[in-house]
Amino acid sequence: MKIGFIGLGRMGAAMAANLVRAGHDVTVFNRSLEKRRALLELGAREAGSVADACHGEVIITMLADDTALADVALAKHGIVESLARGAIHLSMSTISVALSKKLSEAHAHAGQRFVAAPVFGRPDSAAAAKLFIVAAGDPAALAACQPLLDALGSKTLAIGTQPSAANLVKLSGNFLLAAAIEALGEAIALVDKAGIDRRAYVEVLSSTIFPAPVYKTYGGLIAEGSFQPAAFAAPLGFKDIRLALQAAESLRVPMPLASLLHDRFLRLLAQGGDSLDWSAIGGLAAQDAGAARTAGADGAKRSRAVGDERAQDR
Ligand code: NAP
Repeated sequence: MKIGFIGLGRMGAAMAANLVRAGHDVTVFNRSLEKRRALLELGAREAGSVADACHGEVIITMLADDTALADVALAKHGIVESLARGAIHLSMSTISVALSKKLSEAHAHAGQRFVAAPVFGRPDSAAAAKLFIVAAGDPAALAACQPLLDALGSKTLAIGTQPSAANLVKLSGNFLLAAAIEALGEAIALVDKAGIDRRAYVEVLSSTIFPAPVYKTYGGLIAEGSFQPAAFAAPLGFKDIRLALQAAESLRVPMPLASLLHDRFLRLLAQGGDSLDWSAIGGLAAQDAGAARTAGADGAKRSRAVGDERAQDR
């Protein structure tokens, strides 16, 4: 298919590359020019502007947040002004329910179609084309996008015809992930302070009563104290909790746990955590317990203390 792709960040660069590899005719645009180079070498075409990227059947956006997507979609010479009638905006960023509704209306008014398809999975899953995609929109538009979604993920789950439903499901999922990260951080701090090996503890849990990727992946990161480089940056995680709370407020749904997570992120960012992975909120409980550690030095010290040979091998 002839498509455009806007937003070549940690996720978008890997996703656009998979679309090129799958044989699609991809024109890429990114605000910072240097991020386009790798895609052009792979065979993508270069767009000099947002409007230039909008000449295909579908324009995909994978941008940081509401501000970025609103700038690109709704501004003068943006996507809504530039896309042909009948063409589709496939929005894959994690954005607010409110912006998703606004974009649905703007595209409908311009005779275009809007599909929301936010994703679960970090940049390594994006690179491996193993994202889980939650999609919503007009069924015919969704069907037209399916070959693209198949090149990006291992599963697409359709959640209805209102695009904003997919955005709300994504936000609720990230709320659950952040809650699991906070809970893991507290539990790991508890056993660690008692002298129990953190890695062995995560292995016990994730191979028995919690055999889910979230416990394995984030439990491992918290046990290692390994929060850099960020695969999903803490400010973006904070954004998602704020957007979940905004949706909760507008639907009048109290979410006390989400409010707590909001303050955990605020604490992390107030202490200079902008460049850390969002899982770094799972390291705060250890700090509160006076047992904060750094990954490398502590890994060696800890492994000597408890005779963990696996850790010494790293
Ligand atoms: P990222 O690495 O920070 O990339 C953000 C992208 O947005 C870059 O292309 C950036 O352009 C662009 N951008 C930011 N502000 C802009 C603006 N005002 N105007 C134009 N472009 C702007 O973020 P990411 O990790 O790829 O995440 C992208 C989206 O996917 C987010 O909505 C995130 O919540 C979601 N997501 C991320 C993950 C993950 O694990 N990373 C997983 C699932 C979903 P520049 O290069 O010029 O800065």
